[in-house]
Amino acid sequence: MVWKPSEKEEEYFARMEFERKKKLEEEKHKKFIEGEKKRLKELHYMKCPKCGMELIEIKYQGIKVDKCWACEGVWLDAGELEAISRFEKTSLDKLFSVFKK
Ligand SMILES: [Zn+2]
Repeated sequence: MVWKPSEKEEEYFARMEFERKKKLEEEKHKKFIEGEKKRLKELHYMKCPKCGMELIEIKYQGIKVDKCWACEGVWLDAGELEAISRFEKTSLDKLFSVFKK
């Protein structure tokens, strides 16, 4: 198939337009994802992953333990479980007694 120069030009500009619009859509999508991530973080931050109620943060020996007041689940940040596992038995008992009724 032989293209006349003007048709070739038109094809080129159409493709350019498509690429430009595609980039715009991709950027829109990226912004949407970023916004969605932000929205989800704000919605779920310091909420219990199990029941959705507020978590209460308790600092103990450099560890921040998040405890749900409703279902009494206990949540730890990255590395905190390892840190707690290195506690002396007496420190562990003291930590557990904080949550005892
Ligand atoms: Zn809960």
